[in-house]
Amino acid sequence: MEHIVIIGNGVAGVTAARHIRKLSDKKITIISAESEYFFSRTALMYVYMGHMKFEHTQPYENWFWKKNRIDLVNGYVTTVNHAAKKLNLKGGQEVIYDKLIIATGSKPNKFGWPGQDLPGVQGLYSKQDLEQLEANAPDKETCKRAVIVGGGLIGIEMAEMLRSRKIPVTFLVRENSFWNGVLPAGESAMINEHILEHHIDLRLATNLEEIIADENGRAKAVTTDKGDIIECTVVGLTAGVSPNIDFLKESGIQLGRGIKVNRYLETNIPDVYAIGDCAEQHEGIGQRRPIEAVWYTGRMMGETVAQTICGNKIEYKPGHWFNSAKFLDLEYQTYGWVFSERNISEEEQHFHWRDTKEKICVTVAFDKNTKRFLGINTFGIRMRHEIFDRWLTEKRDVNYVMEFLKEANFDPEFYAQYENKIVAKFNSEFGTNISTKKKSWKRIFSYA
Ligand SMILES: Cc1cc2nc3c(=O)[nH]c(=O)nc-3n(C[C@H](O)[C@H](O)[C@H](O)COP(=O)(O)OP(=O)(O)OC[C@H]3O[C@@H](n4cnc5c(N)ncnc54)[C@H](O)[C@@H]3O)c2cc1C
Repeated sequence: MEHIVIIGNGVAGVTAARHIRKLSDKKITIISAESEYFFSRTALMYVYMGHMKFEHTQPYENWFWKKNRIDLVNGYVTTVNHAAKKLNLKGGQEVIYDKLIIATGSKPNKFGWPGQDLPGVQGLYSKQDLEQLEANAPDKETCKRAVIVGGGLIGIEMAEMLRSRKIPVTFLVRENSFWNGVLPAGESAMINEHILEHHIDLRLATNLEEIIADENGRAKAVTTDKGDIIECTVVGLTAGVSPNIDFLKESGIQLGRGIKVNRYLETNIPDVYAIGDCAEQHEGIGQRRPIEAVWYTGRMMGETVAQTICGNKIEYKPGHWFNSAKFLDLEYQTYGWVFSERNISEEEQHFHWRDTKEKICVTVAFDKNTKRFLGINTFGIRMRHEIFDRWLTEKRDVNYVMEFLKEANFDPEFYAQYENKIVAKFNSEFGTNISTKKKSWKRIFSYA
């Protein structure tokens, strides 16, 4: 019986295993060093914040794996010998495969800062990181201050976690406005305000220089390029992630920043595939980046590779870009592409609306010449994925989007209706005379 071996029990590896089992009788083994069972990485923060126990982050019961004949090996793969189709594990164990799926995820970036490996300095990625944070920062008496380095989505999660225990947080962000490599200026400015209002000491345009140790060798302070010395007992390194592929350096598998794959998620070595955060497309799909460290793309790649391995070779097609996240209590969604000023093209134009009282805003991107709708960012108001996905596929123009914006409100009962205000501003900026309305049922069905 063909033996499929998967390295990594994150969402990508586990989805591949589940789908291979649905489609076939093949022998399946998942090897992972981090945890015995699959858990939801995106829920780690809620364990620290006391909203759930770690066990609750495990989407499947412990009996699921045996029942579905998915063998779990708790171990770390040190080398891949593709000529012999053999893996070596730390401790000497060997595993032979017929087909190999590498789904080893990411690791937090470290940029060679002096003191980056001191006790008290940590990332936020793994189960072990969560345990370490619990030990390093159990309460505000033990952790007098934490400094977080790197202003992305994981950094803000870490800040929220620490603030939930009233631990003072200083947040060092290299950019001069939060996440402004991704978000347009108006949104980024709103997030700056939101962070400060949550009593987080946000320091923009500030770089970490060094982490200083106390007499016991533990982190006791950081210095910045602004000349500040900030005393702290915990330093969180959240300056992005990169593919976890160091163990493959001598393997002969083609590597770039990640493991190079084609549209079928095949590497340069026959019978070796890569999926999830660690996979790098030779060229990005559409405007997508070659590496996408997000949950749903890992799941999609897992489903796709399972089909291919089970004889139905299909291309990985992730569709229109979308994503969602939270900035403290502020929900963010994005559908299609809305580029920041740093990455915006000549043709892309933005319409931005922000509520005068609440932290709610919307940015719509469209083509200056053709008026074609390119994407939308929303903060503090939830919109419906399937509607924007359809409008992007149908290549609707921005006027159409404005006209039927009500249609996209996720839950008009719960999310107050700002559409009239949004459209009024659009009309005054672009000289249009659009009144927003809901489609009749007849018209909705005609699009089905
Ligand atoms: C704190 C946090 C919050 C996040 N929140 C969101 C969010 O809200 N939305 C979103 O879309 N994405 C979010 N992400 C990103 C998302 O979690 C990842 O994109 C996703 O988990 C990647 O899945 P994966 O299966 O590719 O890899 P991983 O989940 O990283 O799994 C890979 C596994 O392989 C193991 N492994 C690695 N090398 C070896 C080896 N040599 N031998 C054995 N095992 C090995 C690792 O230990 C790990 O267990 C978040 C990430 C973090 C860290």
